[in-house]
Amino acid sequence: MSRLDWFKKTAKTLRVATGAGYERTLRVAGLRVTRPRLAVLAAVYAHPHATTESIIGVVRADLGEVSHQAVYDVLHALTAAGLLRRIEPAGSVARYESRIGDNHHHVVCRECGAIADVDCAVGSAPCLSASDDHGFLIDEAEVVYWGRCPDCVAERSTAKGNSERGGRRV
Ligand SMILES: [Zn+2]
Ligand SMILES: [Zn+2]
Repeated sequence: MSRLDWFKKTAKTLRVATGAGYERTLRVAGLRVTRPRLAVLAAVYAHPHATTESIIGVVRADLGEVSHQAVYDVLHALTAAGLLRRIEPAGSVARYESRIGDNHHHVVCRECGAIADVDCAVGSAPCLSASDDHGFLIDEAEVVYWGRCPDCVAERSTAKGNSERGGRRV
């Protein structure tokens, strides 16, 4: 799907999704309900681990012209209110997700940057029980698993097979 098609499709989803649920979410968090806030919230719910740039694209497809700064400000406010979680794996730009409060981890592809959620190893948040907390009151543990995603693994083994058949390395 092209980027434009993706934005159009998302915008259509957003118009259906920006209903009472997101308004309630904002109100419960003590935030004023505004169209940019609803649109940003819906964009992140629809696209977990989205970058700021892609969120801006989705929001613009929904609302028309919205400044970068407005979207940054909304992302900041929603993150500060605990409605969104901001993650920033090494070498990646910041990404946002709506799955909050469960201290889940992420697996990141070294080649294409794909990101997926990984639950805590056992139970709800065992990583928060550090082997030695040094007296700190710990509220977050950040674990990033690094590797290659299935697509990149498949691509590399295909390339290898071709080069072996062709008798030369590519
Ligand atoms: Zn990959
Ligand atoms: Zn996640």
